[in-house]
Amino acid sequence: MKIFEYMNKYDYENVFICNDNATGLKAVIAIHDTTLGPAAGGCRMWKYENEIDAIFDAMKLARAMTYKYAAAGRELGGGKLVIIGDPKKDKSEALFRAVGRFIERLGGIYSTGTDVGTDLNDMVNIYKETRYVITLPRSYGGAGDISPATAFGVVEAMQIGARKVFGSENLNGLKVAVQGLGKVGSEVVKLLSKKGAKLVICDIDAERAQKIAKEYEAKIVDPEKIYEEEVDIFSPNALGGILNSKTIQRLKAKLICGGANNQLESEAVGDELHKRGILYLPDYVVNSGGTVYDTYRLFHNNIHNHDFAIEEVETLIRQNITRILEISENESIPTYLAADKYAEERIRGAAKTKTIRLPQERRWYW
Ligand code: NAD
Repeated sequence: MKIFEYMNKYDYENVFICNDNATGLKAVIAIHDTTLGPAAGGCRMWKYENEIDAIFDAMKLARAMTYKYAAAGRELGGGKLVIIGDPKKDKSEALFRAVGRFIERLGGIYSTGTDVGTDLNDMVNIYKETRYVITLPRSYGGAGDISPATAFGVVEAMQIGARKVFGSENLNGLKVAVQGLGKVGSEVVKLLSKKGAKLVICDIDAERAQKIAKEYEAKIVDPEKIYEEEVDIFSPNALGGILNSKTIQRLKAKLICGGANNQLESEAVGDELHKRGILYLPDYVVNSGGTVYDTYRLFHNNIHNHDFAIEEVETLIRQNITRILEISENESIPTYLAADKYAEERIRGAAKTKTIRLPQERRWYW
């Protein structure tokens, strides 16, 4: 598809192509929708095969951010920045400072954070040139590592799901299969173990699985066998696309709730889960805890407060998952569709209020 055709189809606002010969920077900043607020979304660094792939990747990811913020209850629009390059070889302070200068030029309509291929150190280099950086170390006033907040949100969402499926939020005694024991999965295990859940875990890194199994008295299974475990809840915290026509046939769980992005291989899989009566909690709402935690300071005088930010994660995730389950039930539609609908309704609602003109539109929070 052609770029303008694609922008037209999904209602994009801008795509900025950035080039800097001195540092070798080639980047794309895509802004999807700023109805709810200025655009935000991470900075990805990747060895794209060609520049068109990079442009479309930035656009697709930006649109996903619009939905993520809208469904998470945040006043932010969707954007994304991609750098064409090898994160293992092509990084330099100058390169990220150049990124920072391009972001600064946009005057606050786009703010960045970490994503695949970038880390907090890269954010610090961008921050030397612009204040429009959300993900920062604590020493810079940022939230630091956001994975524990993501995991906390996953477990809050799981309790709402458990109330719906098993009649109580109490996870004590329920069997949960946790796939992936990285930054998010290991924290999910820790929180679930405190709540008395019985754990079955797996990771392709056998050493990591052994260590966590010992610490939390969990049963380890082969990563290929995790789907067919006799459990109440399946929690995917590794990669995307793991819910597909083959794996869902093997699932015994009645509830799916995990932090991994893009869990459904296709929308048809979401429809099939709905038909089979397996409750799938939409990934981009379940895993929004880190994002909510990270952006807390934008809405609170640029000051991060761990306790209050966690409180907000709890409130927003509980409220949004509850509402999405209501929409799904009232309209008899799968939960992934209910989440999209909820996000779109929020954006449309905000758009209506924009007809009331303000003397000076508030466009950013710094
Ligand atoms: P991570 O790289 O720290 O952990 C991923 C873990 O999954 C690793 O231990 C890896 O060995 C394991 N793994 C990979 N393939 C596997 C398989 N087939 N079976 C079992 N284990 C497998 O990543 P993370 O930060 O923990 O993120 C996990 C998921 O959550 C990703 O999909 C990510 O996009 C999503 N997510 C993370 C955050 C966050 O705050 N870190 C926020 C939102 C979404």
